[in-house]
Amino acid sequence: MLGPRLYSPFDETMWKSIAEGGMRIQRCDECSTYRYPPGACCPNCLSIDFGWEPISGNAKVLSWITYHKQYLPAYPAPTTIVAAMLDEGEILITNIDASETDKLSVDCAVRVVYGDHPDGYKIPRFTLATQTS
Ligand SMILES: [Zn+2]
Repeated sequence: MLGPRLYSPFDETMWKSIAEGGMRIQRCDECSTYRYPPGACCPNCLSIDFGWEPISGNAKVLSWITYHKQYLPAYPAPTTIVAAMLDEGEILITNIDASETDKLSVDCAVRVVYGDHPDGYKIPRFTLATQTS
C-alpha cells in the first residue's frame, strides 16, 4: 500500500469523483469542450476557465490489446486494455475484465464501472454494455 495519494495540480477533483463512483471530467466554461486528461487550459480555445461535469459512463470501443505477460503487480496476465471514446468525445484508456476480451469489437458499447486498485484507490474500468439492461 502506498502512502497518501498524490495529485497533480489538475486531477484531484477527478480522482475524488472516481472514489465516489461518479467520474467527472473538465469542461471548458468558454466553449463547452470536454477535456481529458485534466489539464491547465482548453485544447480548443485555450481558456483556463473550466468546471467539472459527470460523464455518462457510456463509450464505444476504438481498440484494445491483451498483455499475456505480467508487467505490473496490479495487473496479472492476461490483462486487456481498452481505448474507448466516451459519449463526451474524450478517449479513456483503461482495463476490462479479461473474460470479456473475446466479446470486444470495434464500436461495441462499453460503460465505465469503478474497481478497487490494489494500492488502495478506485479506478475507472470498462465493462461490456449489455443490450438488455
Ligand atoms: Zn474552450
